[in-house]
Amino acid sequence: MIPKFLGSFTCPSQLPKTTLPEFALVGRSNVGKSSLINLVTGFSKTAKVSNTPGRTRAINMFEFGNVMLTDLPGYGFAQASKTEVRDWDRILNSYLSLRPIQKALLLIDSRRGFMPIDLDAMTAFDRSGTAYQIIVTKTDKIGKAELAATIDAIREEIIKRPAAIPEVIATSSSKKIGRGEVLAAMGILK
Ligand code: GDP
Repeated sequence: MIPKFLGSFTCPSQLPKTTLPEFALVGRSNVGKSSLINLVTGFSKTAKVSNTPGRTRAINMFEFGNVMLTDLPGYGFAQASKTEVRDWDRILNSYLSLRPIQKALLLIDSRRGFMPIDLDAMTAFDRSGTAYQIIVTKTDKIGKAELAATIDAIREEIIKRPAAIPEVIATSSSKKIGRGEVLAAMGILK
């Protein structure tokens, strides 16, 4: 399965029409989204192709196997201004209203757990009735007990949320852990 880069877009209304099921990848900047895309597709340059300087705020689309992967811009980077946060919010809400996606995959850094801005994204999914699943990243950076505690805290939060899928996936791109589970979450057979 070779991923096909379909382009970088600044606005959700520019995204190409598709009949394939679409999965959105969402998360804080630096959460490990590009690394996870590369792990999942098995091609180390998939996400990098589009991450040229100045275009990192774009929406990048890939066709992979029998699905579309939509990589939304990372949010909540340290220097983000209020306007940038508002812009990101607008992009997410416009994306969710325009695209009937199969599922959003929300990436959470295992060392941090949910941050307020992640909860805002979850509220947008809940409000729009978009199913979403939590993918914990960088699990190689913490111990087993700490990871179990992080996942417990995540479960406690998502149980209250109507559109969240209860199953949490633990991944490590550097240790190549969780690829099969992420593929299965997107309905792709290995
Ligand atoms: P993005 O901004 O969400 O696309 O994040 P990147 O994929 O670019 O990763 C941000 C940083 O975290 C980079 O330095 C990666 O090498 C590192 N990183 C990403 N995934 C992992 C992981 O599973 N384990 C470890 N130890 N580092 C990771």
